[in-house]
Amino acid sequence: MSEKRTEISELGEFGLIDHLNSTVVIKNPGTVKGIGDDAAVIEAGDHVKVVTTDLLLEGVHFDLSYAPLTHVGFKAVAVNVSDVAAMNAIPKQITVSIALSNRFSVEAVDALYEGINAACEHYGVDLVGGDTTASRGGLVISVTAIGEAQKEQITYRSGAKVNDILCVTGDLGSALVGLQILEREKQVYLANPDMRPDLEKYTVVTGRQLRPDARMDIIHEMRELGIVPTSMMDISDGLASEIFHICKASGVGATIYEDKLPIDKQTFDTAVELNLDPITCVLNGGEDYELLFTIDQKDFEKLEKHSDIHFIGHITKPEEGKYLVTKSGTAVQLKAQGWKHF
Ligand code: ADP
Ligand code: MG
Repeated sequence: MSEKRTEISELGEFGLIDHLNSTVVIKNPGTVKGIGDDAAVIEAGDHVKVVTTDLLLEGVHFDLSYAPLTHVGFKAVAVNVSDVAAMNAIPKQITVSIALSNRFSVEAVDALYEGINAACEHYGVDLVGGDTTASRGGLVISVTAIGEAQKEQITYRSGAKVNDILCVTGDLGSALVGLQILEREKQVYLANPDMRPDLEKYTVVTGRQLRPDARMDIIHEMRELGIVPTSMMDISDGLASEIFHICKASGVGATIYEDKLPIDKQTFDTAVELNLDPITCVLNGGEDYELLFTIDQKDFEKLEKHSDIHFIGHITKPEEGKYLVTKSGTAVQLKAQGWKHF
């Protein structure tokens, strides 16, 4: 009798998570939301807490041949804060767990923590614990972030309604383009160690890859304006893939417009230089850590003039599907290529 073996790549990352989720039984009434959003939501007296965790592995998520440890530390915190922001919550505490091989010195760990502490300062969070262990190969960092909000303020991926406006913050594709530049310069350096990489021209894109900033600024601004998005998530896997998540969770369709998609000038020029299609970078580039959210039409006026929020399309009925309207006016079906780990 042969044992059945299913490759993880057959399910993919999201398929695997769905598969695991189907085995989980929630027992506590205080668990408001479990697996399936940017963070879990847990009852906490007169408010709720959100909890999220992310694991970063050397060689998979960062490459120390070009990523300074200080930036890796900052990014490990920022990506978790970004998931707290995506729930419309305010981050309060983090825990940090690290596994280190003997390649790392105390000074190296200090550099990592310089970045972690800088991020704690920047986002106003307290580092309250963690774990430290040995690793057979390289550096592993896992950060868990805890945030707070009133229950009514929490935004799920599932709240988008037909005719809501789809919004994104900042600009997209930069982190992917930055990664391509860093990888290119690494290859140049490996081929000829006398060559000093010239990264001066690329500081925007490389900065976005190495040291992304979670958009807590937008969360605070929306609070001041009294806006609660109808749905929200952060853009870690690429815009198209995240739109699919919102549509699936909300049971809706979406139409977005190519001419509304935000791209930075340096990102555009660098993508062209690298022979990459800038729009593909915007749609499928990962790790931008901007926010994707939907608002009710009644809130549009309050955000209309915001210089860093872009209105890229709207929510449609589920049977209308997911479409990108190109600059020439053709509607093409969106594909969620995303950021594949498997
Ligand atoms: P994000 O990109 O926002 O961090 P993920 O795609 O990593 O979200 O995760 C989606 C959901 O699946 C989250 O609710 C997360 O907590 C959950 N999840 C991911 N991996 C696991 C796992 N191994 N076991 C249980 N839940 C998981
Ligand atoms: Mg997320």
